Amino acid sequence: ATQPYDDQNIFAKILRGEIPSSKVYEDAHALAFHDINPQAPTHILVIPKGAYVSWDDFSDRASDEEIAGFVRAVGKVARAAGLVAPGYRLLANTGPDSNQEVPHLHVHIFAGAPLGPMLA
Ligand code: 5GP
Repeated sequence: ATQPYDDQNIFAKILRGEIPSSKVYEDAHALAFHDINPQAPTHILVIPKGAYVSWDDFSDRASDEEIAGFVRAVGKVARAAGLVAPGYRLLANTGPDSNQEVPHLHVHIFAGAPLGPMLA
């Protein structure tokens, strides 16, 4: 990993139940909750339960089971929220140029309205 995992990051605290979140889904590998500052009508964050800083860290160190479980969880959240037909966007900021703010891997799910071009 390019940086050590900080177990005091806000999503680690959410995973431990130390601060509340608006949970939409949970299984052995993933937790999904509403973003506190939504950038689309539907804005959900999906995080792996393991201690991974970023997409880069996760794709490098996580087991195949963790990766499969997490990817399936993202799809399950989107299906359960009824987002497949209207469509949705996934985003995972990784590293300094991406402006990743929380150093625990999270996949953003944006949906609920036409989203426009990327990076608009
Ligand atoms: P990043 O910029 O790291 O890709 O995205 C971090 C996201 O986490 C932001 O969209 C921000 O609104 C969200 N966020 C930050 N702190 C909290 C929190 O305490 N609770 C929830 N639900 N979302 C948070």
